[in-house]
Amino acid sequence: MAINSGSSSLKFKLYEMPAEKVCVSGIIERIGSPEAQFSINNKTKTLAIKNHEEAIRCLLTELLKQNFIDELNEIVGVGHRVAHGGEFFDRSTIVNKKEFARIEQLGELAPLHNPVNAMGIKVFSEVLPQSIQVAVFDTAFHQTIPSYNYLYPLPYSLYQKYKIRKYGFHGTSHQYVAKRAAEFLKLDFQEANFITCHLGNGASICCIKEGKSFDTSMGFTPTDGVMMGTRSGGIDPMIFPFLEKNLLLDVNKIEHIINKESGLLGISGISNDFRDVQNSARNGNELSKIAIKMFVRKISEYILSYTSELKRIDGIVFTAGIGEHSAYVRQQICEQLTCLNVKLNKQKNDDNDKLISSKNSKVKVLVIPTDEELVIAKDTYKLVHNLVNV
Ligand code: ADP
Repeated sequence: MAINSGSSSLKFKLYEMPAEKVCVSGIIERIGSPEAQFSINNKTKTLAIKNHEEAIRCLLTELLKQNFIDELNEIVGVGHRVAHGGEFFDRSTIVNKKEFARIEQLGELAPLHNPVNAMGIKVFSEVLPQSIQVAVFDTAFHQTIPSYNYLYPLPYSLYQKYKIRKYGFHGTSHQYVAKRAAEFLKLDFQEANFITCHLGNGASICCIKEGKSFDTSMGFTPTDGVMMGTRSGGIDPMIFPFLEKNLLLDVNKIEHIINKESGLLGISGISNDFRDVQNSARNGNELSKIAIKMFVRKISEYILSYTSELKRIDGIVFTAGIGEHSAYVRQQICEQLTCLNVKLNKQKNDDNDKLISSKNSKVKVLVIPTDEELVIAKDTYKLVHNLVNV
């Protein structure tokens, strides 16, 4: 079972492994409300769900009732997406007491994510005591980033004492799409160099050198890097004290502005959803046009800066909601990369094909759908099957 728990939601996908066959998937949203939404295989019902524990109990009851499983002990492993693994975890791990305590402790660095992730692990281990819990970290893939790329030019003691450094996120997705791209291009992943662009509501770019993360745009938190749906991405740090001193805003309000009121939403004033902003730009809204231009510029700036790190680029890979579906954004970004001699095949780009660059492009450009749940299921299976002989 692959689990992605958020503050008021829980996404699930049950796999038959090692066949990688999806048995059932869905999402429970608005947990904590009398009108929570429980969708299972795209059929939704509304019911009262008090908390995550009730949500998980409800899910398991439903899986039995609808005959997706005959007994609870068919679920031998539960893989949880965990936002922050800090410097402790450079790979997925079975969660026992020690690991659980570390994940909870890392809530200091990811207060919106790790506590709910930890709660998911706790509840599943109580409700399904025979199952093994596995944590799959968003940060793990980026633990190979060298110190000169992960340190901030702040006093070194802030890193030593408080671990203030770049961690990077979306690691599972960057690694997955780069591996699929290497397979597709018949390259050895351990020798391949890619620049991967995960462009969803949250967005990040990753420089992958010889199969390892070498740099990435998100930093100490998932707010840094490129402009996103509601997050600003990297901005002049002196804007924060300015807002505090001159506008007398408190730190919570400043955080809210930067994480929830900025990005595409902040500039366009229309929406955080790329499709809405694009529609309004098409209807002539100037601020929406500027928002899209800024979004594209930030991404191409990162891509271009990462090219200086690589002797050879085997491919630029687009993934996640916008990366997989917006031919327009891909074309706009690639137009900014003409100095790299990147050329798109218009038809293939419009069709969201896998290889969208033209034959005479110096760098290959690919569209690879991400599948974080599958990675969670595979890592979980790998760690669990030796122990329980499944
Ligand atoms: P999340 O980060 O929440 O997982 P997704 O990866 O699902 O997000 O991406 C959501 C984004 O993808 C939204 O901004 C949405 O507008 C955008 N998106 C989805 N389909 C399209 C499309 N056909 N064209 C442009 N943008 C799209």
